[in-house]
Amino acid sequence: MSQALTIENLVKVYQSGKMALKGINLSIAEGDFFALLGPNGAGKSTFIGIVSSLVTKTSGSVRVFGHSIDDDILKAKQLIGIVPQEFNFNIFMKTLDIVVTQAGYYGVPYRQAKEQAEACLQQLGLWEKRNDVVRSLSGGMKRRLMIARALVHQPKLLILDEPTAGVDIELRRSLWVYLEKLNQQGLTVLLTTHYLEEVEILCKNVAIIDNGEILVEKSVHSLLGDLTGETLILDVDSILLEAPKLEHFACRLISPDSLEVDLLEHQTVNDLFQALDAAGIRILSLRNKFNRLEELFIRLTGHTVEDIT
Ligand code: ADP
Repeated sequence: MSQALTIENLVKVYQSGKMALKGINLSIAEGDFFALLGPNGAGKSTFIGIVSSLVTKTSGSVRVFGHSIDDDILKAKQLIGIVPQEFNFNIFMKTLDIVVTQAGYYGVPYRQAKEQAEACLQQLGLWEKRNDVVRSLSGGMKRRLMIARALVHQPKLLILDEPTAGVDIELRRSLWVYLEKLNQQGLTVLLTTHYLEEVEILCKNVAIIDNGEILVEKSVHSLLGDLTGETLILDVDSILLEAPKLEHFACRLISPDSLEVDLLEHQTVNDLFQALDAAGIRILSLRNKFNRLEELFIRLTGHTVEDIT
């Protein structure tokens, strides 16, 4: 299978001296649905900026379906559709005109541009709105219009920068449906996100980026498989002087009436309750110490990420 994107030793040092990317290697196969997952400031936008030629790289190589952005920039650009984080269209223009105009930027002749724009609006559920000004569209429609606009020149790789940041859950799910459909039709999709849930539901492969470095690159399935086991916080209905000694469970006293317990891969909450019951301890409430994304980062980096969600 050919590679949609091949990145080698990609480095970005901003003028301020900030090293935003520290020699990234990444490979995305044609047809993949790939997530670049990382906290704020990890380097995701810088990465996307370079791939889409909006930011100049300091060193390293980027190839889009084999075309280097150094030697073959026009072809590389033509193969990519970009959906930026923020709405950036003229809200007084009509929906169809926005998409047709965009095709013009890629040199698509008017007649063909119109046909392709119409097809994109239909595909994204915006056909009924083709003659409405963008200002009158709902938030969800505007997001879909950004995708339609990115697809009008028929790219093979769609890149979305945090497509659902700040979007409510209902709208997020409806966008997922469209993205999934596009991927099933053969489009390679790369998105950046800081929602683990988004990666879990949509993506086949994931790279986790933190502080300008790729920490791990693997299938979503195997990443989630690594996430077995968890740490629980339990509130108990008595005052304890020391942590109880439970068979098979590591248990720590974190306050006189709460405990922290590690649950291993093969252990269930039920097993834990039985062990506590045998020790004469009654549980009032239970919660996870970390959310799963935090848990992932702690395991990968050894430190917590405050601004992850
Ligand atoms: P993300 O998209 O993952 O939030 P960014 O790529 O925006 O991360 O930023 C990566 C790092 O580079 C951050 O420390 C950020 O402050 C810094 N950075 C981003 N853009 C610039 C710039 N134009 N000049 C200097 N530093 C920048």
